Amino acid sequence: MDELPFCYANLQDFEHRIIYYESSRGCPFSCSYCLSSVDKKLRFRSLPLVYRELQFFIDAKVPQVKFVDRTFNCRHEHAMGIWNYIKEHDNGITNFHFEISADLLREDELELISDMRPGLIQLEIGVQSTNGATIREIHRTMRLEDVYRAVNRVKAGKNIHQHLDLIAGLPFEDYERFQQSFDDIYALHPQQLQLGFLKVLKGSYMYEHASEYGLIYRTKPPYEVLASKWVSYDEMLEIRLVEEMLELHYNSGQFLTYLAVLEQRYASAFQMFLDMGHFYRSHGYLDCSHNRVRRTEIVLEFAESVDAGHRAAYEEALIFDLYKIEKSKSRPIWARDLALEKKKTSAYLRAHGLEKKYCHLEKFNWLDARGTLRQKEQPMWLLFDYEVRDPLTNEAAFTEISEAEMEGDTTWNRSEN
Ligand code: SF4
Repeated sequence: MDELPFCYANLQDFEHRIIYYESSRGCPFSCSYCLSSVDKKLRFRSLPLVYRELQFFIDAKVPQVKFVDRTFNCRHEHAMGIWNYIKEHDNGITNFHFEISADLLREDELELISDMRPGLIQLEIGVQSTNGATIREIHRTMRLEDVYRAVNRVKAGKNIHQHLDLIAGLPFEDYERFQQSFDDIYALHPQQLQLGFLKVLKGSYMYEHASEYGLIYRTKPPYEVLASKWVSYDEMLEIRLVEEMLELHYNSGQFLTYLAVLEQRYASAFQMFLDMGHFYRSHGYLDCSHNRVRRTEIVLEFAESVDAGHRAAYEEALIFDLYKIEKSKSRPIWARDLALEKKKTSAYLRAHGLEKKYCHLEKFNWLDARGTLRQKEQPMWLLFDYEVRDPLTNEAAFTEISEAEMEGDTTWNRSEN
């Protein structure tokens, strides 16, 4: 690996691009659908050389370096060395992405990454399925309990973006069992849940056994499965619909408060996204693209259709979701007219020397200052500050302001988030 040339000496060609970097090749595991499992030779670039090259990226302040190592943490000392190095040489800007096996994470690794700068690293973790029979059949080595433990540990640190992968169409996983895998992984609430479809790649064990598994798949890229002995074509289309809804509403990060309210209505997150997909389809909403505000209106319609009686809570959750990301110029048709409170909000901003273009004030009756719903109606204002953002989610910071403070009473309470 040390003989491979370093191809980034001139970074001008890579401006505003993600830098792909490899510190190892091959994988010790043997997942039956993966071509990396065919290449049995696992080899590493030596650490002093890796450090020198990483320092080059750090000095150049590139935004992101994506390690393409198939299972970055398969050699403990190698992973520890690199994580230690980037932690000690953090420039406050560069982010490093790693594909890892969560159940291999040891205590000292969890400890080491637990207090890294928020956003310094992000982790992609392939879970693929939570069905033991499927995991065994695809020759995957994974202790599910250890995956859950590690994912929850990392999540508790609130400093690392986690991206969990699932694959639909694997052997021994029928439609109902896939739904279970989806619900199990969704319950972990990673920042991204990537629902992929099995690819039947020439040269893989899966390809050799395709007829045994009844796999019907595209013979052209991306070689994705269309049906199997366990999942029909129609069921696969339903899973695709769930994937589309998941991307638009969950992975986009744009409707998380809304989903948190809607989830209380559902025992299964898979069913929730499926119902949403059916609603989109039956109303013709899948036929064209929608802007953010229009989508906000659509999902409120959907919530009303499955959870009538809680419209006010959904409205507030959607307004919160809208403004925590950007100072939206347009508002949903049902949103309160801001002109009604303009005098009050302008007076507050003026009195506190705040610039209107960098913040937004909104009154909420059901939402609390953490963005969750209260049991009882209780008015409260939130001041969104677009100049202070969460390094992991990019959401604007917000501050709770009491009604008394808005009225100009100086004995108010104010709490920061
Ligand atoms: S762990 Fe990942 S890279 Fe390794 S064989 Fe399995 S799918 Fe391929």
